[in-house]
Amino acid sequence: MSFLEQGDGLLWPAPVVSTSSERICGKPGAKSSPRTKQEAAEEGEPPGLGEGAQCRPAAESTGLEATFPKATSLAQAVPLVRAGTPPTGWDLLPADCAISGKGSSTDDLELPMEFPAPEAWDWELKDLEEDRTARSPSPQVPLLSLGWDDELQKPGAQIYMHFMQEHTCYDAMATSSKLVIFDTTLEIKKAFFALVANGVRAAPLWDSKKQSFVGMLTITDFIVVLHRYYRSPLVQIYEIEQHKIETWREIYLQGCFKPLVSISPNDSLFEAVYALIKNRIHRLPVLDPVSGTVLYILTHKRLLKFLHIFGALLPRPSFLYRTIQDLGIGTFRDLAVVLETAPILTALDIFVDRRVSALPVVNESGQVVGLYSRFDVIHLAAQQTYNHLDMSVGEALRQRTLCLEGVLSCQPHETLGEVIDRIAREQVHRLVLVDETQHLLGVVSLSDILQALVLSPAGIDALGA
Ligand code: ADP
Ligand code: ADP
Ligand code: AMP
Repeated sequence: MSFLEQGDGLLWPAPVVSTSSERICGKPGAKSSPRTKQEAAEEGEPPGLGEGAQCRPAAESTGLEATFPKATSLAQAVPLVRAGTPPTGWDLLPADCAISGKGSSTDDLELPMEFPAPEAWDWELKDLEEDRTARSPSPQVPLLSLGWDDELQKPGAQIYMHFMQEHTCYDAMATSSKLVIFDTTLEIKKAFFALVANGVRAAPLWDSKKQSFVGMLTITDFIVVLHRYYRSPLVQIYEIEQHKIETWREIYLQGCFKPLVSISPNDSLFEAVYALIKNRIHRLPVLDPVSGTVLYILTHKRLLKFLHIFGALLPRPSFLYRTIQDLGIGTFRDLAVVLETAPILTALDIFVDRRVSALPVVNESGQVVGLYSRFDVIHLAAQQTYNHLDMSVGEALRQRTLCLEGVLSCQPHETLGEVIDRIAREQVHRLVLVDETQHLLGVVSLSDILQALVLSPAGIDALGA
């Protein structure tokens, strides 16, 4: 019997409610004050430019560029977690249970996830082998000029770089948010279901034997598991049913040690941007340097939102008025796309091969008709339909409940300022660049924008490296 029929939803262990980051986290050395900086941030108040500048001198004076990179692995960051003692701030987790810390979530960047009932699906089995080998057309794209280097020479080009160097991760954290932690002995099927049940996109992994956090479990891992073990709609994915997270990690990592990439609340937002982009990850846990507790998970979206709100109080640099075409910010060649008629399995192949976060969905004539992101794949777990990867991407998009209408796009003549405003307002990770006939020209991702605004002015190319 497939676990899809076992009524697991009913038997799901209730997550242990732990403390919110508000209660478990205090900025080390911070004075108690009636309102925290994050609360001010969430209410749209400036985070105190002067204060930040005092706490952390500008990069030039600290030689930050010279000493960078500084993303820390957990082993380096949290030497004080004592063996046998779990980090404080969350309850000791049962081996087969997810831990969830839920406060009154003020982090509106975590989109609420709602999933349609599995009955909503209407399966049509298609010729899997033929579809698996189908490849999407490579769109013809014009070469865009690269005016960004010119802009970097102008006064004010480093304004956002300085801003991010002068503010800490603590400043960008929500005062309270939901945090789900998995023990590595949890079965992977339960883990992915628990992501869905808790409406989160990722969870830090706690290894009780090592008494430390050893990694993250994200939707990309779900994709990699499906990609590796899926055979056909008629064959149950035994490995998803049986494997524990630690078993999967042993097989997947094959003994090569990939430490958790984490950051301290006292590190700068500049370092957070660097860690995310350089390591090609989308989740950066903020760890309390003393207790080893995960306080928050930073994302590109959160960082851009912070920059967008508080950057508005800074003088507006001239590059915001220049067009995307002039600046050449984004990816314009060798785009990874998927045909709307291609099976989901093809999309998963591309996600794994190309390591991109989303695929513009195109029709036969190359027009963009949608966007299929890695996030959308978790719907397969939500709807317990991951045995049906022969369904077309177009159909999968139509069956999403929480679905953005069409595709959020921009055009080459739009200014960088307009693009940033839209991407921040819509809370998506990228806009698709199209011409007036909806033909694909490129992808402008938060990674591209943060690289350009924050890292390029420091002479760092973490995205291209
Ligand atoms: P997603 O976009 O699906 O959330 P990511 O791009 O963040 O996924 O993750 C890509 C891969 O890197 C996954 O295998 C994930 O487990 C791993 N990963 C993500 N964040 C971290 C981190 N902070 N430290 C170490 N590995 C990570
Ligand atoms: P994440 O927060 O994990 O980075 P994404 O922004 O990739 O999530 O995706 C969140 C949802 O928004 C997904 O359903 C995705 O398909 C949708 N989405 C993201 N970018 C676009 C876009 N440019 N156009 C239309 N839908 C989008
Ligand atoms: P992301 O994974 O979205 O954070 O982006 C990392 C890099 O990949 C950025 O330079 C993006 O422009 C690029 N990128 C994102 N999606 C695609 C895609 N579908 N095809 C090619 N490049 C992409």
